[in-house]
Amino acid sequence: MATIIDGKTVSASVKQRVAEECKSLYETTGKRPGLAVIIVGDDPASRVYVNNKKKACELVGFLSREYALPENTTQETLSDLIEQLNQDDEINGILCQLPLPKHLDEKAVIEKIAVEKDVDAFHCANVGKIMIGDFDFLPCTPSGIMEMLDYYNIPISGKECVVLGRSNIVGKPMAMLLLHKNGTVTICHSRTQNLKEVCQRADILVVAVGKPCFVTADMVKDGAVVIDVGINRKADGKLCGDVDFAQVEPKASYITPVPGGVGPMTIATLMKNTLTAFKIQNHI
Ligand code: NDP
Repeated sequence: MATIIDGKTVSASVKQRVAEECKSLYETTGKRPGLAVIIVGDDPASRVYVNNKKKACELVGFLSREYALPENTTQETLSDLIEQLNQDDEINGILCQLPLPKHLDEKAVIEKIAVEKDVDAFHCANVGKIMIGDFDFLPCTPSGIMEMLDYYNIPISGKECVVLGRSNIVGKPMAMLLLHKNGTVTICHSRTQNLKEVCQRADILVVAVGKPCFVTADMVKDGAVVIDVGINRKADGKLCGDVDFAQVEPKASYITPVPGGVGPMTIATLMKNTLTAFKIQNHI
């Protein structure tokens, strides 16, 4: 039986630390961190994520501003808003909820956000910093996963780490963070041959493919640590991950559930990054 990695508990401890620091910074500076969240259109999943981010801001004591723009927003309008927020001293972090409607250029939007306010760490300057190991912010999901591994004292150095998925927001930065901690890292994707055999090598298997129950028990080594990033909605409306939890859990040493695993950590890290941005911008 695996130990269930409880993302709710770990994220609560991160948010608690952020809230305490926010309170003491407010006492000394009279200021508090501010996060602006932009949402374009009415994608229901994006709406849930944005609401959760707002709730987390309130919980830790941040200023939170939401900019809900209509689906037909132009690139120019969005760009002007970001420019205005780049100049706004009350706002330390800017986040544009992805995915954006198809007519908008996501890359241009990300690059428009000031590097020091890019709390998602998606800007190419921040991505480059992560690559060389000299960073201010880490992307929220991979960083949240590292925090969970640390909380459960799971060793990474020298371990076989397999990351399933190579997206810019999860797979690639995840691989880089594991590498910085001296893991031996393999990245898999849709063209990987012998996927099952590669996954079977993993001491730590991080799965971010976006396909329900993609990872089955035969792909997992006995005693592996299995981190499930996937968030998929089943026909009955319930959430499930990319890992077949019922099958894999008995083989794993540690495993994250969905929901209640990686998801809450992503938001906790966003709070941590916004606090870091506030401190950098205020030279604290
Ligand atoms: P993407 O769709 O951007 O990337 C999916 C990756 O999986 C791609 O690299 C793709 O390969 C790979 N892949 C797809 N099919 C296969 C296959 N059959 N075999 C091997 N590899 C495959 O997804 P994201 O990284 O953005 O997200 C992944 C999942 O994580 C989603 O369910 C998403 O909802 C969830 N998510 C959860 C978060 C959280 O907070 N918990 C945060 C972010 C995402 P290729 O590159 O070759 O196409």
